[in-house]
Amino acid sequence: MAAEHRYDPSVIEPKWQALWERERTWEVSDDEADAATASYVLEMLPYPSGEPHIGHLKNYSVGDAVAHFHRRAGRRVLHPMGYDAFGLPAENHAIKTGEHPRESTAKSIAAFQEGMRSWGISIDWSREFATNEPRYYRWTQWIFLQLFDRGLAYRKEAAVNWCPVDATVLANEQVIDGHCERCGTLVEARQLEQWFFRITDYADRLLDDLETIEWPPHVVRMQRNWIGRSEGAEVTFSCPEVGVDYPVFTTRPDTLFGATFFVMAPEHPDVLRLAAGTEHEQAVRDYVNRALAESSEERAEADRTKTGVPLGRTVINPVNGERIPMFVADYVLMEYGTGAIMAVPAHDQRDFDFAQAFDLPIRRVVEPAEGEVDEDQPFVAHTDDEVLVNSGRFNGMSSVAGKDAIIDWLDSEGRGHRSVNYRLRDWLLSRQRYWGCPIPVVYCESDGLVPVPVDDLPVLLPDVEDYAPKGRSPLAAAEDWVNTTCPRCGGPARRETDTMDTFVDSSWYFLRYTDADNDEEAWDPSITDRWMPVDQYIGGVEHAILHLLYARFFVKAFADMGLLKAQEPFARLFTQGMITRDGAKMSKSRGNVVSPQPIVERYGADTARAYILFIGPPDQDADWSDEGVEGVHRFLARLWRLGADVAEHGAQSEPDPNAGTGEGDDLELLRKAHWAIDKVTNDLAGRFAFNTAIAAVMELVNEAYRRREGASADVVHFATATAASLIFPFAPHTGADVYERLTGDRVWEQPWPAADPALLERDVVVVAVQVNGKLRDRIEAPSDASREQLESLARERPNVARHLDGQEVSKVVVVPGRLVNFVVR
Ligand SMILES: [Zn+2]
Ligand SMILES: [Zn+2]
Repeated sequence: MAAEHRYDPSVIEPKWQALWERERTWEVSDDEADAATASYVLEMLPYPSGEPHIGHLKNYSVGDAVAHFHRRAGRRVLHPMGYDAFGLPAENHAIKTGEHPRESTAKSIAAFQEGMRSWGISIDWSREFATNEPRYYRWTQWIFLQLFDRGLAYRKEAAVNWCPVDATVLANEQVIDGHCERCGTLVEARQLEQWFFRITDYADRLLDDLETIEWPPHVVRMQRNWIGRSEGAEVTFSCPEVGVDYPVFTTRPDTLFGATFFVMAPEHPDVLRLAAGTEHEQAVRDYVNRALAESSEERAEADRTKTGVPLGRTVINPVNGERIPMFVADYVLMEYGTGAIMAVPAHDQRDFDFAQAFDLPIRRVVEPAEGEVDEDQPFVAHTDDEVLVNSGRFNGMSSVAGKDAIIDWLDSEGRGHRSVNYRLRDWLLSRQRYWGCPIPVVYCESDGLVPVPVDDLPVLLPDVEDYAPKGRSPLAAAEDWVNTTCPRCGGPARRETDTMDTFVDSSWYFLRYTDADNDEEAWDPSITDRWMPVDQYIGGVEHAILHLLYARFFVKAFADMGLLKAQEPFARLFTQGMITRDGAKMSKSRGNVVSPQPIVERYGADTARAYILFIGPPDQDADWSDEGVEGVHRFLARLWRLGADVAEHGAQSEPDPNAGTGEGDDLELLRKAHWAIDKVTNDLAGRFAFNTAIAAVMELVNEAYRRREGASADVVHFATATAASLIFPFAPHTGADVYERLTGDRVWEQPWPAADPALLERDVVVVAVQVNGKLRDRIEAPSDASREQLESLARERPNVARHLDGQEVSKVVVVPGRLVNFVVR
C-alpha cells in the first residue's frame, strides 16, 4: 500500500467542514417541510456555562446520527442549535469566575459554536439564538402576558422553597430530596408572595397524553408519579367554635368512622387564627416558626418522632357527629390535598404514631373479611377483602362498597363529594436573581399590578454590575430602571424586580427555531405547524420532571390559544446515558474529566464521535477508555486507507450492489455488505443501538480486507463505498471523504442504501467433517441446516469424497452446528 495513504483527520475534517459551511449544506427551508417529509431532530439546548463537555459531545453525536439518517431516508430535517443562556447555570458560572454573566455567557457560546463546528455536527445555523437575546426574550415576555391574560400566570403568597446559597426561591421540581437541584443545599420553607403558572389546570391532560408519545417508560413513570393523581373524596369537617368549614382530601373515605383527631399543616393559613385566644396560642406560634424552617422531605420522613401542638379547637366528624380535637403537626404538608387531614390512627402508620405520642383514641373500622383479628397489631394491613366495622349503618359492607356508599351519603348531605387530588403544584417561576428574563409587569400606586403593554416589549434587562444574589433581586437596586410610569394612568410605578426562571426560557425555544427570524410574532403557526411536534428529542434524564413537564404544559396552553396544532412538544424522546471514567461520574474534584477538545485535536472529531457511540448502547452509562478510543481510530484509519487504495486502482464509479461473479469471495463479500446495510439500518431506525451498528461496519471492513485479493475489484469497491456510506452518520468526515474518492459523489446527497434480501447473509457456522474421526475438511453451512443437508454438503467436498471413494459408509454421526463424521469399513 502506498506510503502517502495516511489517515489524517486534521486535513480531512476542516476540508469538509469548510464545504458544509460554505454551501450551507444543513440549512433547510420551511417550504421544504410538509407533513410527510418533515423531520425535526433536536438535542436539548445547552447551558452556556464554560466549555462544552463530553456529555454534550455524546448528546450531539446521537442527534446528528439520527439527523443524517433521516435526511438520507428522504426527509427534510430541521436540526437547529441554540443556548439556554439565562439563569442560574450561567449566572453561577459568572459569579465563580468573577466575569459578568453577559461576557462569560458570550464566551461560552463562542466555545460551543467552535465545538459544534469542529465536531462536524450538521446544524442549520441560520436559526441559531440564545435565550438572553432581547429578540428572543421579548417573546418570552409576550408568552408570559398571554398566560397572565388567561389567568394562567398569577401572584400569590405561599410557603415556598428557598435556597439559602443561591438566595432565591425554587420550584418544587427544582428540589431533589429536599435539596437545591443546582447547588445541593438543603432548602428552607419561606412564606413569600411569588409568581406562579397554573400548570395544575393541565394535570389531567399532562397525565392522559403521556399515552400519545413515545418516551422511555421510566420518564413516563416519573412524570406520572410527579403529577400524582389519586382518587378519593373531599370531606367537610366544620369547626363550630369559629364557624368555619375545613375540607380534607382522603383516599380512604371508608375509614371516616375511625377519625379520632384532626391535623393541620403548620403552613395552613388558619392555624394561628384558630389558636388565637386559646391557652395554646404561644405554643402554636413557636411550633409553626420552628416547622417552617424545615424541609418538607425532612418533615415527611416516616420514622421521625411525631410532634405537634393542640389548637384548642374541635371539628365535627360529618359521619357520626363526633367532636374531635384539632392539632397542628409538621407531618402534615400544605402541598398535599388541602393542608389538613382527618387522622385515622387505626389505619395509618403516621396517624398511629401521633396518637400514641399524644394518647389519643385508636378505633378500628375495617377488618379482614376472613380470619381472626390480631388485637395486638396496631392496625390492619389493608387487603382486598376487608369489611367495615364500628361504622354505623355501613357495618358489614366491603370496604370498596363502603367507600362508595359513604361518599354517596356525604354528597346527599352536602358534606362531601368525590374528588381527585394531585401531587403536582403550580409552577413557581419568579426568581430573586439578576440573570433572567424580566417579568413584564409594573406596580402602580393607584392601579396596582399592571401588565406592560405588548407594544412596549421587550422590557430590557438593565446592565447591573453588582449582580450577586442578596436575598432580594439585584434589579431592585437599579433605581433608574425600577422607577417607571404606569402604562395605564401615567403615574409613578415600580417594575417587578424578580426575573423568570430559566425553565421558562427553555419551555418554548423549540417553537422559535421553526420561525427564528420572525420580528412580528413569536412564531407563525402556519410555519410552526409544519415542523411540530419534534420528531426526535434527545437529552439527559435529569430533566424528566422539570423541562420535559413544563414544555408539555406550555404547548398545551398554546394549543388552547390557537397558536399551535400540536398537543405535545416531543413525539419521541431518547435519554442518553452518562459517560463515566473509572466507573465514577466525571468531576473536576475527582480529576477524572475527559474533555472533548483534546481528544478531537489528537484523534479527530470522527474518532471521538464514533467512539462515544461505540462504547455501549447510548441510552446506558458507559465508562471511558483511552484504549477504546485508539481502537476506533485504527478502524477509521483502516477504512480510509482501504478507500484510498481502492480509489487509486480504479476509476470513480457508482457502487454496484450486484457487482461480481456471484460466487466465492465475490458472493461472500457482497453478502457481508448487504448484511451490514440491513444491520445498520435496523439499529438506526429502531432502538438507537449505534454501538452494534458501528461494529457491523467494522466487520464489513475486516471482511473487505480479508477477501480483497480473491474478490473482483467492483465488489471490493462496492463493499468499501458501502462501509463509507454506513459510517457517515457516525463519522461524517471520514464517510464523506472515502465515498467521494470512490465515487466522485457526496454521500449525504445519496439515498440511504437498501439491503438486497436475496443477498442477506444467513447465519453461517463452520462444521468439521471427519472420516473415521480424522479431520478431512470444514464446511460453512447455515446454522439451522438439517442433518441431511449437512451430510450432503460434506459429501460434496472433494477431500471428503476422495476418502469415502469405494468404501462402505456404515454410519454417519452428525452433531448439528459442529461436526459430521463418516464411519467407514
Ligand atoms: Zn441552590
Ligand atoms: Zn396607574
